[in-house]
Amino acid sequence: MSTSSNTPQTPRATEQSSPARQDEARPQVIPKPEGWKQPMGPDGRPQLQFAQSQRVKQPPQHLADMTLPERIQRAKELGYPGFRAKQLSVHYFQHYTSDPAQMTDLPAGTRDELVNEFLPPLLTEVRRLRTDDGATIKFLWRLFDGALVESVLMRYRNRITLCISSQCGCGMNCPFCATGQNGLTRNMSTGEIVDQIVQANRAIVAGELDAPTAAEIAEEADHAGLGEEAEFAGEVERTGPQRVSNIVFMGMGEPLANYKRVMNAVHRMVDDAPEGLGMSARGITISTVGLVPAIRKLAAEDLPITFALSLHAPDDELRDELIPVNSRWKADEAIDAAYEYYEKTGRRVSIEYALIKDMNDHGWRADLLADKLNARGRGWVHVNPIPLNPTPGSIWTSSEPDITREFIARLEAKGVPTTLRDTRGKEIDGACGQLAASED
Ligand code: SAH
Repeated sequence: MSTSSNTPQTPRATEQSSPARQDEARPQVIPKPEGWKQPMGPDGRPQLQFAQSQRVKQPPQHLADMTLPERIQRAKELGYPGFRAKQLSVHYFQHYTSDPAQMTDLPAGTRDELVNEFLPPLLTEVRRLRTDDGATIKFLWRLFDGALVESVLMRYRNRITLCISSQCGCGMNCPFCATGQNGLTRNMSTGEIVDQIVQANRAIVAGELDAPTAAEIAEEADHAGLGEEAEFAGEVERTGPQRVSNIVFMGMGEPLANYKRVMNAVHRMVDDAPEGLGMSARGITISTVGLVPAIRKLAAEDLPITFALSLHAPDDELRDELIPVNSRWKADEAIDAAYEYYEKTGRRVSIEYALIKDMNDHGWRADLLADKLNARGRGWVHVNPIPLNPTPGSIWTSSEPDITREFIARLEAKGVPTTLRDTRGKEIDGACGQLAASED
């Protein structure tokens, strides 16, 4: 494996000198796409897809696309009493069912039509992969037009997190991310986004998600996840929650490039049952490459959701190559917007930082990151390094353990709270950046 193709200046012999190898003795690997090419625009900047094509077909309208008053209105238009909309909402959001046979409170002759109108199938399960211990499940879904998306369900000691997709593909073209390499097919609808949760809840209720092993629980203590405030405090540890408690928009897609549908989906998550799922907004994390105007809009929503910025480099020179959208909004602008999010909402924000060997893991970058964060204030931010999920045989390799420790120690030495994120689901290609839906 060659990790030094762009960095002839440095011998690799210093590699063994633990614990902390000095930056001067380490190469600087330059990011580059492998096996695909970043299209460039006439302005010399990467050509990214911020919107779907106008011609793209939309999935059928679903109850989850509508507010409860809109559903009632629709039921009346179809000649039904308004309360049928509420009954259907209970079935979907509280019993997690779209099966007319189970809807015994509806007149038998109306069930099929009501289900056709309000609960058309959105996500068809193509494949499901479980880790050996059964505490992590990756779902592969086919949508009405054949598009494929994935979600990953993870049971922890006292929370259940679902990592959901918001777009079919992604237009942000980050060279280290499996989803980014095939471009954007289309935005997912609100109903498609929400149905990932309802289907996951259905699997949980059916007993299909096992408890984590003791080893995994021990690991959680030091590798805390995101949005932990939403733990189901009242429930006993032995059983844990029986439905998804935490959502991370860290599956396929750039959620802020599908703003309206994503925000509608967030409303469905937090709306009281049966209008929605009645989840806590604090347990929902939206992660972005840094679409600055959309971050500002999100801050103005007045919802206590958790915000995460995928920074991955504090300096523009590297971030320009790592996160192509940095050609529009620079690292400092993205950090400013994250700080504004904190100021407006009072919610501490997360900075995501995938540690990539000899690329962004140098000690000076940890120092620079800490300085940039501290320059805006204290106590407003939390850094979440995560070892890169590697592409074998490429420059995309995760940092060595001693380098990872050193990176974290440097941030902590400057007073920045830092938690190494876990990489659940690796063995089933369900970990961050590995979601590249295919049927093979
Ligand atoms: N588009 C959004 C959300 C999707 S990805 C975003 O970029 O934030 C969720 C997180 O996984 C992001 O921080 C992303 O940078 C990270 N990620 C992508 N590929 C990865 C990989 N190979 N290893 C580790 N993290 C990765």
